[in-house]
Amino acid sequence: MHPLSSEPIKDFHWPNGFQAAAWLSWHVDVETGLLASGTKIDSALVSASEARYGLTTALPRILDLCREYDVKASFAFPAYVAEKSPDALLSCIDRGHEIILHGYIHENVQNISAAEEEDILLRSISVFERLIGTRPLGWTAPSWGMNTGTINLLHRHGLLYDNSLMEHDTPTVFDFADGPLFELPISTILEDWQQFGIDLATGGSRMASIKNAFSLWIDELEGLVEYGGLFSPTFHPNLVGRPGALRELDKLLAKYRESSHIWWTNGAEIAKHCLNLHSESKIGKELS
Ligand SMILES: [Zn+2]
Repeated sequence: MHPLSSEPIKDFHWPNGFQAAAWLSWHVDVETGLLASGTKIDSALVSASEARYGLTTALPRILDLCREYDVKASFAFPAYVAEKSPDALLSCIDRGHEIILHGYIHENVQNISAAEEEDILLRSISVFERLIGTRPLGWTAPSWGMNTGTINLLHRHGLLYDNSLMEHDTPTVFDFADGPLFELPISTILEDWQQFGIDLATGGSRMASIKNAFSLWIDELEGLVEYGGLFSPTFHPNLVGRPGALRELDKLLAKYRESSHIWWTNGAEIAKHCLNLHSESKIGKELS
C-alpha cells in the first residue's frame, strides 16, 4: 500500500445504475474553530455569536429542508459541540442523518504527536458512544489537517472511511491487511468556507456572490455526473445555512434531487457500498 495514496476500488460503479452520487456534508463547528485557534470565547462574543448562528438559527432550517427533499445528509460534530449541545446532535439523529467525527475541539492534527492525535480520536469516539450509543463510521479532518499516520489511526480504531483527501473524485481504498478504509473525497472547490468564510478577528472575508457560488457548485455537480464522480460539498450551517444561500440550495435540490442519474445519499451508505464491491473483488480474487 502506498503511504500517501489510496487505490482504485476494483470495478467501481455506483449502485442501481446511477451515474454519480451526491452527499451533503455539514460541519457543525460552532465555536470550536475559535477555541482551536486559541481565541478566548469570553472576549470574542461577536465571533462566537456568528459561529452559534449555525447551531441555533440555521440548523433547524437545514433539517427542515433536508426533510422536504428526503435527503439523508451527514453532520460532522466536534465532540465538544456534541457534549455542549446534545439536543442539536439528537435532532440530526432523529431525522435519520449520519454523524461523523470531526475532532474534539476541531484540532488540526497536521503537526501534533501521534499520541496526542490518538488521544483526541479516542476521547471523541467515547463521547459519541456515550451520547448516541454508537461509533461513527467516518471522520473528516478539522481544518483539512492530516499526516501520514492519520489513515492508519482511523483504521486501527474501527472507522470505515475518511472524508478529507482530494486526489480522486470517486471513492478509493486504503487496503490494509486486516481490512479496508475507504477514502470518500472532498474538494475545497466544493466548500463554502472558500466562498463565504469570515475571520472577524482580522477583518478578512471573502463575501462571494451566493449565485456565483452555487453556479460553480452546479457546474461541478453536472461535471461529476458526466465523469461518474462523487459530489460531496462541505457546508457549514453558519454559512450555507443563511437565508439567501439556503434558498439557492433549495433550488438546487428542486432541480437535481429527482434526477435518475444521481444517487442522493450519505457517507455511511457510500462506504457500505464500497465495502460490498471491495469484498466481492476479494472473493473473486480468491476463487480465480
Ligand atoms: Zn470544521
